[in-house]
Amino acid sequence: MTRTVAPLVEAIYEDVVRRNPAEEEFHQAVREVLESLGPVLARHPEYTELKTIERICEPERQVIFRVPWQDDRGEVQINRGFRVEFNSALGPYKGGLRFHPSVYLGIVKFLGFEQVFKNALTGMPIGGGKGGADFDPKGRSDGEVMRFCQSFMTELYRHLGEHTDVPAGDIGVGGREIGYLFGQYKRITNRYESGVLTGKGLTWGGARVRTEATGYGAAFFASEMLTARGTSLEGRTVVVSGSGNVALYAVEKAEQLGARVIACSDSAGYVVDEGGLDLEVLKQVKEVERGRLSDYAERVRSARHVAGGSVWDVPCEVAVPSATQNELDGEAAARLVRGGCIAVSEGANMPSTPEAVQVFRSAGTAFGPGKAANAGGVATSALEMQQNASRDSWTFEHTEARLERIMHDVHARCAEAAEEYGSPGDLVVGANVAGFLRVAEAMHAHGLV
Ligand code: GLU
Repeated sequence: MTRTVAPLVEAIYEDVVRRNPAEEEFHQAVREVLESLGPVLARHPEYTELKTIERICEPERQVIFRVPWQDDRGEVQINRGFRVEFNSALGPYKGGLRFHPSVYLGIVKFLGFEQVFKNALTGMPIGGGKGGADFDPKGRSDGEVMRFCQSFMTELYRHLGEHTDVPAGDIGVGGREIGYLFGQYKRITNRYESGVLTGKGLTWGGARVRTEATGYGAAFFASEMLTARGTSLEGRTVVVSGSGNVALYAVEKAEQLGARVIACSDSAGYVVDEGGLDLEVLKQVKEVERGRLSDYAERVRSARHVAGGSVWDVPCEVAVPSATQNELDGEAAARLVRGGCIAVSEGANMPSTPEAVQVFRSAGTAFGPGKAANAGGVATSALEMQQNASRDSWTFEHTEARLERIMHDVHARCAEAAEEYGSPGDLVVGANVAGFLRVAEAMHAHGLV
């Protein structure tokens, strides 16, 4: 990476790299935030004096633990579990668990760091944390997943609590896993502590719209960005990458807002259908059957399956990258811009590489960074916590209206901070500055802790 930051923040960045060797994703996430903070430090000398940025870059607590379990053949398996409790200035640590073979400390720290700013941007009382394991749920039976979750929670439970740390899902952790994790927490603690996990099932403390929230939120955010530019999603062609929870519901909401979603992807390739994807078939294949997109193409004759290709080869007006980190590089971004892409709303965490972000910003493409555009998921988790605390359960309509309002406010906070700190229209700067200021103010009030 070659872009320079103010000398002060450059020194902080170098220190982060030195203290956290070989954690590239974490370095990348930190650098992106630090690049935005020069003007903030110039206006707030107290944050330099109190080393607020240095403290924000250092997690409050990091837990790494062994997760032993037995597979269906009786063979012993050993995974590594993580929980990084990053910042609790605004509320209990809050953030998902990711089960994926690529998980290591650097991934968990990048996600936890992003979560601190994202959660601040929602305006809700939640701190930031993240966790997971290098466990690969793919091809595992329900019994194996259950035994893994039970072993994972047998260590993790001592670090959790509705006022302490509240995990949820992320890649590889959905309703099934949250169920097993909650069951084990309840058994060990002998407490029906609904607010200790979010993303629960609707019959046992879950909130309506939580399943849909991240994807819906990313579509709402795209719509907010377009409205700010005097246009809308209506009639736009959209490409969504991924076909997991975030992607499916981004497709659903984009369609409801009048767009035509023409492509989505999985790790084996992508499907494209100029007439628009058939969401019902897509949900059946991905959510019910846990199948592949090639199965979708076999059932929907108008769709074309491209094995091994990049979904970013498909020209569109709006892109919603919703697969995983660094899935969209500088070249893909340039192709998108050339193809007429006017807005990018990140459904995943850090899906665009720094080069891609640079391409979008210099082309004047409306760009919603993940920590703003995908904040709808965790915001709705905070709504789930509210419902649990009051032993209440809201309707779908009420909860969705709250989500829509939250996404509007997140966009407004980013746009205002960008304006105030000299980068009008730049939502990357806006998200970083607005998120930082809210956390920093609370940390300042709490003294040196
Ligand atoms: N994993 C989601 C995220 O990246 C949701 C976290 C939560 O609901 O706590 O924001």
